[in-house]
Amino acid sequence: INAILGMNEMILRECKDKKILEYAQAVQTSSNALLSLVNDVLDLSKIESGKLEIKEEEYKLQDLILNSYGMVAERLEKKGLRGSIFCNEKLPQGLIGDFSHLRQILINFLTNACKYTEKGNVDFFILGSVNGDEAKLIFSVKDTGIGIKEENRAKMFKKFERFDLQRNRNIEGTGLGLSISKQLCDLMGGKIEVKSEYGKGSEFILTVPQKIYDHVPVGEVSPKSNQKEK
Ligand code: ADP
Repeated sequence: INAILGMNEMILRECKDKKILEYAQAVQTSSNALLSLVNDVLDLSKIESGKLEIKEEEYKLQDLILNSYGMVAERLEKKGLRGSIFCNEKLPQGLIGDFSHLRQILINFLTNACKYTEKGNVDFFILGSVNGDEAKLIFSVKDTGIGIKEENRAKMFKKFERFDLQRNRNIEGTGLGLSISKQLCDLMGGKIEVKSEYGKGSEFILTVPQKIYDHVPVGEVSPKSNQKEK
């Protein structure tokens, strides 16, 4: 799939024919959808076979925040949504944990907030507390989107569950993201909470313990210094 996307990228860059560019755009959209489906299924089967190991590596909190946010910043802008980051500047900058899987959960929350919000805001809060060499981090993603009915909130973390299918028929997805996030979070010893008001918006909150290796405060973390990843 990566080869298809790579070759297609060359067509998108080099071709001048409008019709062919349209076809190539469709190839790109479908290939990206297929790639994320394959990745989700692979992740799930790895978790379910007990093969997924949670890493303990040093990383910088600001990298985690900006890297995750950077994955949705452009999409938020295209949709006309206001995105913002509110981070407690006193949190320690150097943490030990599983950077890539934490990032995966945060991207899932942020992408959903963007997908299921038509107008308004997507706010990303990073809060928490410190006890010796351990931090209890709280990441919250709050949107002003369609919200989730009370009766669906418990089902949301099950595989392949999607709601409001009629209303969401044009929104891509498989219903695997939150199930993966929940299982990754359990493996990290964290928890996920959801607050939502149907029709008004939702908030997804991840609380997770991380060890600290550098107590220097993280300081201001601003979306302007986004590191966008491709
Ligand atoms: P996907 O987005 O691929 O369908 P997820 O597992 O990430 O899968 O989410 C499951 C379902 O939960 C979604 O299909 C949607 O109905 C609902 N959902 C998730 N996040 C939100 C949100 N921020 N606002 C409204 N509904 C949401």
